[in-house]
Amino acid sequence: MSNIFDVIVAGVGGMGSASLYTLARRGQRVLGLEQFELGHNRGSSHGETRVIRMAYFEGSHYVPLVQRAYTLWDDLSAAAGQSVIVRTGSLEMAEPGHDFVERSEGSCIDHGLAYEVLDGAAIMGRFPAFRVRPETRAIFQPDGGYVLSEDAIGAHARLAVSHGARLHTGERMLDFKTTSDGGVVVRTDRGRYSAAHLVLTTGPWMSRFVPGLVESLATYKQAVAWFRPQVPAISAPGAMPVFIHFSDRGEFYGFPQHGARGIKVGGPHFARVAIDPDEPGREPTAEQVAELCGFVARHIPSAAGTPSAVSGCIYTRTLDEHFVIDRLPDAPQVLVVSPCSGHGYKFAPAIGEIVGDLVMTGGTTANIQPFALARFAAVG
Ligand SMILES: Cc1cc2nc3c(=O)[nH]c(=O)nc-3n(C[C@H](O)[C@H](O)[C@H](O)COP(=O)(O)OP(=O)(O)OC[C@H]3O[C@@H](n4cnc5c(N)ncnc54)[C@H](O)[C@@H]3O)c2cc1C
Repeated sequence: MSNIFDVIVAGVGGMGSASLYTLARRGQRVLGLEQFELGHNRGSSHGETRVIRMAYFEGSHYVPLVQRAYTLWDDLSAAAGQSVIVRTGSLEMAEPGHDFVERSEGSCIDHGLAYEVLDGAAIMGRFPAFRVRPETRAIFQPDGGYVLSEDAIGAHARLAVSHGARLHTGERMLDFKTTSDGGVVVRTDRGRYSAAHLVLTTGPWMSRFVPGLVESLATYKQAVAWFRPQVPAISAPGAMPVFIHFSDRGEFYGFPQHGARGIKVGGPHFARVAIDPDEPGREPTAEQVAELCGFVARHIPSAAGTPSAVSGCIYTRTLDEHFVIDRLPDAPQVLVVSPCSGHGYKFAPAIGEIVGDLVMTGGTTANIQPFALARFAAVG
């Protein structure tokens, strides 16, 4: 079997699986390398679900990207014969002193999205699972929902293989070298491969391969927990939207009941529990679990109690919390694709499409200028 490819995708998690699929579908000879098994629980994409929302307080410029992602999530569901996206509406709630509702509203206005602004009484009247302070404000956007993240990795990878991609799981990239003819040679713990392009989608392990990013990418352990609701009817998708809640205690987010474990809650988003991704343990700390239990007791009392399950996951946070999607300045055949900072998953198929465009045409119509490496001095 030949070890020569058009493209090697290193890291087959959320972004890598989507990239592999786009490239294979477009006829590229592509190899995906994944150090663990598909959908494993040591990176950033496990835990069943990820919020998808159009209202985007992080910046209006993300809206066209997420709109494209919605289309592609629906396409993936159709191609895979399994739905990977559930629409519930998204509710972003903020206590006084936090401007996230206004920022999300700005993104809706900029892009003509449907939305409603609710006060505390209206939030509790319409979505009885929530208890909030009366002065809380919220923005409800009807397109919000969640993506089934592990299912989607499986679907992207399976379809990529059906389009001719080679996928090696349990194989770790050790390093890569650029070649004088403008290509790249990748060395793994099992072999050596060459290609015209290398796509680095190694998530929390990114700075191992781009040392200039060590100061700009930090990895943090984040906690999520599931709680069984005592009143399932008010916690079902539709009766309860995906949500984010901002207050002085931090930003928490969550999902209606999906599966036997109950509603899922995560946060606080701004927690800084540093982790080396090669550390084996992912269990949240006792303090992290206590914070999640406290949030549920205060704001979703019908699900309060001991979690039915807990899990830890890694955020790869950039200094400005925006993504990195760019070529290495001294090796343009190498793409660095790291959309995380805790909000990247929803974009995965749109990112895969951007990777396909950059590799095959040298450019993209998507606005990736805010994700340029040049903003980080060490690699720019
Ligand atoms: C708790 C939590 C909640 C989140 N919530 C949301 C949300 O609600 N909505 C949202 O949009 N985003 C959310 N995010 C962010 C989102 O999940 C990430 O942006 C996304 O998962 C990143 O995908 P990735 O492909 O970059 O990383 P990963 O999915 O981790 O993939 C990287 C892959 O590279 C592999 N790899 C690394 N090094 C090597 C190597 N040397 N050789 C071979 N393979 C290698 C890894 O094993 C891994 O499989 C959340 C993240 C976390 C942690």
